[in-house]
Amino acid sequence: MHRVVYAYRGKSVDAIINLTAGVAVATTVAAQHACRPAQRIKILVSGAIGGLFPDIDSFSVWPVLFGEWGFWQHAAPAGADIYFGKSWYSHLAFMHSLLGLFLSTGAMALLFSMLHTHVFRRSPNMISALMYLGPYTIAFALAYLLHLAGDLISPSGIWGGMALFFPAKQYVGGWGLVWWWNNYDLLVILLLCIVFNLAMTFGLPMRSEASQRPPVFMFCLALLWISLQISRRETDFNGQNFVTNETLSHEFQESVLGAPVYHQMRKVDEALPFGF
Ligand SMILES: [Zn+2]
Repeated sequence: MHRVVYAYRGKSVDAIINLTAGVAVATTVAAQHACRPAQRIKILVSGAIGGLFPDIDSFSVWPVLFGEWGFWQHAAPAGADIYFGKSWYSHLAFMHSLLGLFLSTGAMALLFSMLHTHVFRRSPNMISALMYLGPYTIAFALAYLLHLAGDLISPSGIWGGMALFFPAKQYVGGWGLVWWWNNYDLLVILLLCIVFNLAMTFGLPMRSEASQRPPVFMFCLALLWISLQISRRETDFNGQNFVTNETLSHEFQESVLGAPVYHQMRKVDEALPFGF
């Protein structure tokens, strides 16, 4: 039971930061393409889905499937075994690999094409149709890639990293540079990037040079700032026990954000069904 709680807390709770990172990269992609606001919003949705998509492999501990009212509630122990296991469908296996990224992106591109058959009918040629749909796929793929990068620097856990080069059996990453969740400082940077990029994208005329470059610059700046924040963490999050790691992570957050901001963010985090 303890293992199930541990899993659930760990991998649902960082959903918001994965989603935010996906949207941040998607705002950068959306700013590069001359399209209507509705299409830009769809690009952001693609990024959000891409940011969350690899964690589909946590299905076996989702309460809706295995919890008290879940479809397979009696299979709960099996669910935890799948989650912590080394099957291709276990957590941090195939879906957290470059092959998973490639195939999921292909599947999404196919889905986008099927949902936009009118674009293929109306476009003068295949290339222009694909150019039109490209940003959706690119936003999805980049968001997926960011998720994998985020998991590489998380603790190794019971898995010993992730199967990035699946079907090779080696698990890599799990560097423990950040704690699994409560990375409020990184969330603030991503939110700033999104707000700036949305203002540039929706505030300036389409295909304006002025609206294309600043979002790229802002996103690179955000990545740089995130790297800097990560390097400021002096804890090896693989080094201590679970409770100590969590406490050290909270102490770091309070020291960088200041007590008032930290406590506000923690309050929001704890109030949400999916935290940071
Ligand atoms: Zn993940």
